[in-house]
Amino acid sequence: MSADGFDVVVVGGGHNGLVAAGLLARRGARVTVLERRSQVGGAATTEQPWGPEFNVTALSYVVSLMPPTIVQELELARHGYKVYPQHGYFAPYRDGRALQLPDDPSRRRDQIAQFSKADAEAYDRWDSWLGSLADVLGPLLTTIPPRVGSRRPRDLVDQLQLAWRLRRLGVDGTADVTRLFTMSIADLLDEYFASPQMQGVLAVSGVIGTWAGPRSAGTAYVMAHHKIGDVGEGQLGSWGFPEGGMGAVSRALRDAAIANGATVRTDAPVARIDVRDGRVRGVTLESGEELRADVVVAATHPKITFLEHIEPALLPTDFVERIERWRSRSGTVKVNVAVDRLPEFTAKPGYDPEVHGGTIVLAESLDDIERAFQDAVAGRAAGLPFADICIPSVFDPTLAPEGKHVVSMFTQWVPHTYATTQDTAALDAYADRVIARVDAVAPGFTDSILHRQVIGPYEMEHEYGLVGGNIFHGELSPDQMFHMRPAPGYADFRTPIAGLYQASSATHGGGGVTGIPGLHATRQIMRDRRKRGRRSRH
Ligand SMILES: Cc1cc2nc3c(=O)[nH]c(=O)nc-3n(C[C@H](O)[C@H](O)[C@H](O)COP(=O)(O)OP(=O)(O)OC[C@H]3O[C@@H](n4cnc5c(N)ncnc54)[C@H](O)[C@@H]3O)c2cc1C
Repeated sequence: MSADGFDVVVVGGGHNGLVAAGLLARRGARVTVLERRSQVGGAATTEQPWGPEFNVTALSYVVSLMPPTIVQELELARHGYKVYPQHGYFAPYRDGRALQLPDDPSRRRDQIAQFSKADAEAYDRWDSWLGSLADVLGPLLTTIPPRVGSRRPRDLVDQLQLAWRLRRLGVDGTADVTRLFTMSIADLLDEYFASPQMQGVLAVSGVIGTWAGPRSAGTAYVMAHHKIGDVGEGQLGSWGFPEGGMGAVSRALRDAAIANGATVRTDAPVARIDVRDGRVRGVTLESGEELRADVVVAATHPKITFLEHIEPALLPTDFVERIERWRSRSGTVKVNVAVDRLPEFTAKPGYDPEVHGGTIVLAESLDDIERAFQDAVAGRAAGLPFADICIPSVFDPTLAPEGKHVVSMFTQWVPHTYATTQDTAALDAYADRVIARVDAVAPGFTDSILHRQVIGPYEMEHEYGLVGGNIFHGELSPDQMFHMRPAPGYADFRTPIAGLYQASSATHGGGGVTGIPGLHATRQIMRDRRKRGRRSRH
């Protein structure tokens, strides 16, 4: 570790800002994190909207994608980071049947065979294909994208190094990756599965957080992105519930940053990133307070960083245009409720930890999901929204009093325009439809509800800084990935301003509670400082 001591301001105390703060502080930087809200965490937050009885994981709800290297280096376990593994899918249907995908291969085969014997046979092929892709995509996620197309010698070396790493893909592997990045999840699933039940349940992860239906190009990758995770068990795509909700992940990151010497300030909104002669000088808070720094890490949405915090005249025009064009829509609505008992599913009466502690999917078929998207495209909140539901209090007693539970429902779609002009009545009616959909497969659910919280695109943008309501700071579409994230030439966590780095989810490796942007930004900053150090010695 170098300990040359330099001043860093991190703008935004979301989990990525906190990862960068902790890692930079460990490397000897004097770090101050400035967070606009009264608590850190951004979209990884636990809140008490109904008083102290219930702790609600308000937006994001499961972890998977954070690399063990971050967890270990920041000693997050010491700061309270603990994950309960989540069980597999449970998809109950209105006709009283259900499809469950447990980890045990033989039980899983029987479950799928209820609907299609051919699909039951196809599942292992699908799983091993995904496994082989994750072997490639996993390391790519932890690679800093080179400046593709640049002819500068240093950039050419980076491009060649990437090509060399990818050589083992071969012709077939390259074709698979190309297909994955460009296909729709519908076309991909069609190659393996025929039953509406299997297509429906597996299509959901292709459209999570995306302004695209399952028949839109690029959704195959979104599915893969959600399968790459690892909670440290070495298992592909295993997800888990952090004890204390997602806010506990942020708290552990905050405490790790502080333990390493960083200062974390809340209620500290930044108004401006200060730049002089093409180099960052620090920031000015909305209060007028100025902080000077050698390095500023912008961990906020790129439209906030580059269109609000920096004078556009100080940035290249084409870069500003690209950020203006950055697409950040989702149409996602989070519906959280507190209940006085667990839902009892017609298809599986009684308590079953694999059901209640799994991912409960409400989507009867892929057509069902596509229709929900097409409703929103036509300007209406979906008539039959799909939902990805979990009940973390099944494992985690810190979230609700005994016998009561918090139910987290991730749903889509309402029109993405709700981010600017919300139709509150339509949003409430939409949430009613989500709840009625649960009631149709678990009668009595509506009556069990004690409290409800509905967070739509408007709140996501205005309260949480998720511009446009996109849950990943920018759509995971093929033209916004890897060296294009968030702009070509600047996917390496640098920016057009010397000393200003970016670490939001809109950079490569972001999209979920991954911490990878915070990790990459740290690596890039340290690399640049080493280079500067070498130059100044000569
Ligand atoms: C409904 C929903 C469900 C999701 N579910 C999951 C899930 O289950 N699992 C998963 O892995 N991911 C999930 N995600 C995605 C994941 O939560 C995000 O991608 C991730 O948390 C973003 O982290 P970040 O640090 O990049 O940005 P953010 O969390 O957005 O943090 C940015 C921070 O900057 C602050 N800020 C903004 N403006 C200023 C300013 N002017 N001055 C100072 N601070 C400022 C904000 O208040 C915020 O705290 C979900 C997201 C949503 C919205």
